[in-house]
Amino acid sequence: MRRIRQQQPPHGEHHSVVIIGAGMAGLAAAHTMLDNGISPLVLEAESQPGGRCVTVAHDGGVFDLGAQFFTVRDAAFRQFLENRLDAGQAREWTRGFPDISGVSELASHPRYCGVAGMGALAASLARDIQIRFNSRVKGIVEGRACWFLTVDNSERIKADMVLMTSPLPSALRLISDENTWRMGALLLPLTGVSYAPRLAVAAILDGPSGLPAPGAARVDDGAVSWIADNKIKGISPDAFAVTIHATRAFAENHGDMPADAAGNLLAEAAAAFLESDITSALSRRWEHGAPESILQRDYYLVEGRAPLYFAGDAFSRGQIEGAVLSGIAAANAITTRLSATSATAE
Ligand SMILES: Cc1cc2nc3c(=O)[nH]c(=O)nc-3n(C[C@H](O)[C@H](O)[C@H](O)COP(=O)(O)OP(=O)(O)OC[C@H]3O[C@@H](n4cnc5c(N)ncnc54)[C@H](O)[C@@H]3O)c2cc1C
Repeated sequence: MRRIRQQQPPHGEHHSVVIIGAGMAGLAAAHTMLDNGISPLVLEAESQPGGRCVTVAHDGGVFDLGAQFFTVRDAAFRQFLENRLDAGQAREWTRGFPDISGVSELASHPRYCGVAGMGALAASLARDIQIRFNSRVKGIVEGRACWFLTVDNSERIKADMVLMTSPLPSALRLISDENTWRMGALLLPLTGVSYAPRLAVAAILDGPSGLPAPGAARVDDGAVSWIADNKIKGISPDAFAVTIHATRAFAENHGDMPADAAGNLLAEAAAAFLESDITSALSRRWEHGAPESILQRDYYLVEGRAPLYFAGDAFSRGQIEGAVLSGIAAANAITTRLSATSATAE
């Protein structure tokens, strides 16, 4: 019997817009594009959305392990958030946090959190978006008027425009050497942004943490910068579950150690501030935890043979609010460009 060989399209699938990363910037960008009638493909390396907004389950507890809360200072972000508040996915958590000795800071602007955790908030944002999980982009290279993305070394995707939202050092590493060389000076503003590492521990306690309301406190003892009680916060009903964040100095000084070993040392340091004993712990390290400087623009565009956009928490106001505003701004710029292209074509 004669076998019919399946003809592979030369460049796999083709999308108008591909977004790399389903963190808050990528999700906000995808949402904004959907609202504008554009359906991007989002490629996400991990198995869930949210990036550094991550909620994990460990030993019966639920932990906001990365971002703990977010501010809402900008009107565009408030508008973006309003649906989430209405749908009961986000809520105001507090107007200030005490230090570990219980001395409250003066009440000021509201801090919000996800009702079921920060990761659940990201998951609610991801619902209507075309996201491909477990799809790590390994490299991007310019074509004639497009970009070719290699996903996990095999799949090849063609895109008219690409929006990169991973932390800038890892985003820049994806660009082929030849393109990096050719774009040269255009990439310079982005290469100057470095990131501090972050280290967090999810710890189960054998009783209440003893943390003051609203269930989190700033600490600064050299090792520990923050402790939050996820039970008091309302996301871990069945277990005494605290999140411990390391100071920047501790994360840097223990950067060569395996994350678990560094996390155990951090947990030991945090024990002095907790009323109950730690019975188990899970550690997580982010190489690119927090940008050390924020670029004074909402997003960045490199005009090559095809446009390459950058967004994320290194832009706008930084942190979650900045990441979302940056994603929205990049999406609006892409929408305007696509509208202009289709008007010219008509
Ligand atoms: C420990 C910690 C505590 C924090 N606390 C707060 C806080 O309380 N309040 C606050 O506002 N901010 C906080 N932040 C910062 C906040 O989490 C970030 O500013 C925000 O989540 C950044 O969103 P982003 O979309 O720009 O990037 P990310 O969240 O990093 O998203 C990038 C996404 O891209 C994906 N990705 C990366 N490379 C690839 C690839 N090659 N292919 C496909 N996908 C890829 C990643 O998996 C990730 O999902 C904290 C951060 C950390 C680490």
